[in-house]
Amino acid sequence: MNDMLTSTQLVIAEALRTLGYGEEMIDLLKEPMRLLTVRIPVRMDDGKTRVFLGYRAQHNDAVGPTKGGVRFHPDVNEIEVKALSIWMTLKCGIADLPYGGGKGGIICDPRKMSFRELERLSRGYVRAISQIVGPNKDIPAPDVMTNSQIMAWMMDEYSRIREFDSPGFITGKPLVLGGSLGRESATARGVAIMIDEALNKKGIPLSNARVVIQGFGNAGSFLAKFMHDAGAKVIGISDVNAALYNEDGLDIESLLDRRDSFGTVTNLFRDTISNEELLQLDCDVLVPAAIENQITADNAEKIKAKIIVEAANGPTTLEGTRIITDRDILLVPDVLASAGGVIVSYFEWVQNNQGYYWSESEVETKLKDMMVRGFNQVYEVHTRRKVNMRLAAYMVGVRKAAEASRLRGWV
Ligand code: NAD
Repeated sequence: MNDMLTSTQLVIAEALRTLGYGEEMIDLLKEPMRLLTVRIPVRMDDGKTRVFLGYRAQHNDAVGPTKGGVRFHPDVNEIEVKALSIWMTLKCGIADLPYGGGKGGIICDPRKMSFRELERLSRGYVRAISQIVGPNKDIPAPDVMTNSQIMAWMMDEYSRIREFDSPGFITGKPLVLGGSLGRESATARGVAIMIDEALNKKGIPLSNARVVIQGFGNAGSFLAKFMHDAGAKVIGISDVNAALYNEDGLDIESLLDRRDSFGTVTNLFRDTISNEELLQLDCDVLVPAAIENQITADNAEKIKAKIIVEAANGPTTLEGTRIITDRDILLVPDVLASAGGVIVSYFEWVQNNQGYYWSESEVETKLKDMMVRGFNQVYEVHTRRKVNMRLAAYMVGVRKAAEASRLRGWV
């Protein structure tokens, strides 16, 4: 995990230097401005109290309130939360949202907790961080192993503390509590839009494209459906256990029906390949949509895809990026490709502030506009400045926070 922050800082520094900023700006933006560590006592169902450790990082609020998810996971740690808050600044910068980046997490295993214990933990977290968050300060959202129910409890707790209804305090809420249509599938929809743009650059029609997706969870499964519906051939998918491959195209409808809520499906099949083999399949588009560090110095030479679109956070290492770029494979980096979730979260917040709700097609049209604009900006910097797509994305992403910090007179 240490690598994740260090490599982010290396690219942030390179991006800022290339943009002409000095060392003071790098010093400001290489770490979050604020990191709150909280201890949350929770009464468990057996009557005993357990104390959980949680974090909230706010990277930079020069542009506007900070924004980013809260993850519940046993591996949550300070370094990861810091790095993820920086990535949120980059995503918001590329999408041109009026936000800086934030991120939160609690060290816990929700799979081993009851519904009521999770509710008490969610409410306890909000009480612990309530001084530094709010609809105009820092707006949380779902992330790994948190969902719309947890957002509903958190919103309710914040509303009680503030003594008025505060739907704009958090996004990813259930529809009846002010959630937005299209939020659940927003990340995958954004990735699908990026695939279309990248295929255009390579002159390959989407309807002829052969697509491989690693991970069949929220991001991977919705994406498989969107690709299938658009006429592309999904020839490989995988989960944590194994991968499925059919060069004529997999039966996506049936796989979607049979997957469980954790995104596993390959255990129902005997004829499988490994995740490592999946990554090396001959295809037009490879989408890592599972976990970090999948394309590295060890396998980047063996990747046969023409395009890689990163739905997961951090699936390609810096050395992997260098090899992929040298081999002329078009890489659409995570901070651009997976921004659909935060963009529709922004739409949810805007709708909450207005008290006026949009149709799903309105959400989709606006999402497409923002994603395409982000892609064009990053691609233009990549070609004009002759830098790889990751550095180009960082340059576009960090520019707004740097400029806002300069204009406020902070640096
Ligand atoms: P998820 O938990 O719903 O699904 C994860 C999938 O990856 C599952 O199919 C799981 O079996 C598989 N997987 C887990 N470990 C694996 C391994 N070692 N090898 C291969 N497959 C493995 O998660 P998700 O929400 O779909 O997120 C996937 C990635 O996309 C993460 O990196 C996440 O940070 C990123 N992301 C998701 C969203 C979103 O809105 N869901 C937004 C931005 C980024």
